[in-house]
Amino acid sequence: MKEKIYTIPVNEAFDEGGECPICNIYHRLEQESIEYMLGPAYMEDDIRMETNKKGFCSRHYSLMYAQQNRLGLALMLHTHMQSVGKKLNELAAKRKPIKKSLFSKPDKDEISAYIDEITSSCYICDRIDTTFERYIDTFFYMWSKMPEIQQKVENSKGFCLKHFSLLLTEGAKKLSSAEYEKLVDIILPLEQQNIKRITDEVEHFTDKFDYRHKDEPWGSSRDSVERGILKTSSEFVEDK
Ligand SMILES: [Zn+2]
Ligand SMILES: [Zn+2]
Repeated sequence: MKEKIYTIPVNEAFDEGGECPICNIYHRLEQESIEYMLGPAYMEDDIRMETNKKGFCSRHYSLMYAQQNRLGLALMLHTHMQSVGKKLNELAAKRKPIKKSLFSKPDKDEISAYIDEITSSCYICDRIDTTFERYIDTFFYMWSKMPEIQQKVENSKGFCLKHFSLLLTEGAKKLSSAEYEKLVDIILPLEQQNIKRITDEVEHFTDKFDYRHKDEPWGSSRDSVERGILKTSSEFVEDK
């Protein structure tokens, strides 16, 4: 079974704990992709052809910039910009005046259509998404075939909002009605309880700034802002 090789990381992501096991999967894939990009990948011709064409999103430029391989990043940036400049020159050379009438919207200029396309494409996002989708498929495969995953879900702290919604929409497509309803029966109350838990933790955090509460213990609220951000926006932030 092809899915089998993906079940181990899915199990590990649940065992790792935290506010969203699916974010654990995504975050791990993202870190691996950044390391891979700045390691063996950028000198591979077929990969460079793709990165030249697509470039990277701002998030993934930032994450690569934060790493130590500035030369690797510069080499990819250089040939990507060469490719953008070449394409722009080609489009500029064949550009014709756009057709416009009072009654219809003007056709989109080919140049801005090209720029929109490359500024919204990212080699790393695409690379992560392909594998991430397989992990989501694996989760649903496990949900229908491996009862132990249900226990792991029940013991988890729910999911970030984006991935909670993803499980609902993808589950509706991929599971039988009975399996799907069972999933909803478990993850919906779980999500409600955990949203309440973290809201209370953040409230306690804010209370600690009030002199009347300053001597109360932090309890679990000390890192609740970081966890609340993960819960609502799927973003790992660190207290530096
Ligand atoms: Zn998540
Ligand atoms: Zn990206």
